[in-house]
Amino acid sequence: MIQKLKQQLSRYYLFFVVSLFVPLVFFFIYASRYQTNFFAYLVIAFSINIIILVAFYRRLKRKKSQVKLQKEDFFERANMLKADLEREAQVISAFRQKIISYSQLKGFIEKLSGCLTLEDTAHTLCRETGHFFDHGDSTIILYIFDSNSGELAIASAERNQRVVNIKSKLGDMFDRWIMKTQQPLYLEDTKSDFRFDMEKMQEEDLRPLRSLLSVPLVIQKKVIGILRMDSPVPGRFNEEDLRLLQAIGDIAAVAIENAELYDKVEDMAIKDGLTGLYLRRYLLERLGDEINRHFRREQEMSFVMIDIDHFKRYNDHFGHTAGDIVLKHLAVLMEKHFSAPGNLICRYGGEEFCLTLPECPKSEAVAQVQGFIEFVAGEDIILRREKTHITLSAGVASFPKDAKTKEELIQKADDALYEAKRKGRNRVCVA
Ligand code: GH3
Ligand code: MG
Ligand code: MG
Repeated sequence: MIQKLKQQLSRYYLFFVVSLFVPLVFFFIYASRYQTNFFAYLVIAFSINIIILVAFYRRLKRKKSQVKLQKEDFFERANMLKADLEREAQVISAFRQKIISYSQLKGFIEKLSGCLTLEDTAHTLCRETGHFFDHGDSTIILYIFDSNSGELAIASAERNQRVVNIKSKLGDMFDRWIMKTQQPLYLEDTKSDFRFDMEKMQEEDLRPLRSLLSVPLVIQKKVIGILRMDSPVPGRFNEEDLRLLQAIGDIAAVAIENAELYDKVEDMAIKDGLTGLYLRRYLLERLGDEINRHFRREQEMSFVMIDIDHFKRYNDHFGHTAGDIVLKHLAVLMEKHFSAPGNLICRYGGEEFCLTLPECPKSEAVAQVQGFIEFVAGEDIILRREKTHITLSAGVASFPKDAKTKEELIQKADDALYEAKRKGRNRVCVA
C-alpha cells in the first residue's frame, strides 16, 4: 500500500512538472520564431514556474515524511496485530487442549468407575494420569493415607506406563509438607526453592528429582492421599499441568474413597468383626480351591483346628468382655506366628480357630502348632492388672494323606482336636 502511495506521488509530481514545462517549451518556440519580445514574459513565466516548483517540492517533501510516519505507524499496527494473532492462537490451542483434557477426563472417570478394589483403583489412577501428560521421564506416585498406621503408604508408582519401585514407601519431605498444609505443591526447580533443603533429604528418598507437581486428595477436609508427579528435569511442569492434576486429584479422591468403602464392605462379608480373621464361610470357599491346587501339583497341605481350653470357665471367672479381649489377643498372636504367605487363619466359630497351611507336610505343621501351643501357654495375658493364662488344644490333618475332600479334612482335624481334649488338653494330636 505504501509502495503504491509512493508511486502515485511520483507520477503526480512528474505530471505536474511536465504540465508546467511543456507549455513553456511551446512558448519558447513561438517566441524565438515569431515574437522575440515575448521572451520577457517567458522569463517571468519560467521564474513563476521555478517558484511554484520549489513550493511544490517542499509540499512533496512534507507529504513524503508524512507517508514515512504513516508507514511506521502501519508497521507498528501490523506488529501489534501479529502479536494479537499469536496470543489468540495460543488461547485457541489452550482451549483445544482443555477440550481434549476434559474429554479425556470423561474417559478417565468411566475407567475408574469400572474399578472396585482399592488396588485396582490405585493402578488405574496412576496409569491413566500418565495418559494426560506427555512427560516421558516423570514418575507418577499415588500415596494413600493408612488410618491404622497413621502414615502414608505407597499405593502405586509408574513411569512411562510401567510400574516402578520407589524406595520411599512412606513419602518424603514434599509429601509431609502436603499432609501438613493440605495445599498443592508446584516446584519448578527443587534446588532453588527456599522452602525445601535438598541436603536434608533422607537417603531412602534420594533419587534424581528437580521438578515436582503434587496435589492432596481431600475428602471432607481430610487428606486421604497424595497424587504427585516428579521429574529429574527442572521446569518440566507448568501451571496448566497443576490445574489438570488438581482436577484429576478431585476425581481420584472420590474413587479412592469408594474403593476403600468397597474393600471394607467386602471385608465385613468375609471377616469376623471381633478378631478380624476370616469367617468359616470364606474358609469353606477357599479350602476347596486349595485342595484342587494341591491335587493338581501333587503337593501336601495341612489343616489345623485349634480350640481354647476351658474357655467357659475363663468367661465365668473374668467375664465375657475379658473373654473377648483374649479372643482378640489370640488372633493377633496367630497372625504373627503363622504369617507365612498363603497361610489362611480363620475363626471357625466361638473360641475355635482353624489354619490352612499350604505346601506344608503334616510333620512340619505339627511342629509349628506345638511351638505355638507352648508359646501361648507361657504367655501372660494381663486383665485388670491381673496375670491370666490360657492353653490351647489342636488337631492336625493333611491332604491328601488323611482326606480327599474339604469336609473330610475338617472332620479329621476336628477328630484329632477332640483326641487332644480327651488326652488332657494343652497339646496337639494328629489324624
Ligand atoms: P473345652 O476345653 O472343652 O473346649 O471347654 P470350653 O469351655 O472351652 O468349651 P465349651 O464349648 O463348653 O465353651 C465354649 C465357650 O466359649 C462358651 C462361650 O461362652 C465361649 N465363647 C464362645 N464365643 C465367644 C465369644 O465370642 N466371646 C466370649 N467371651 N466367649 C465366647
Ligand atoms: Mg474350648
Ligand atoms: Mg469349642
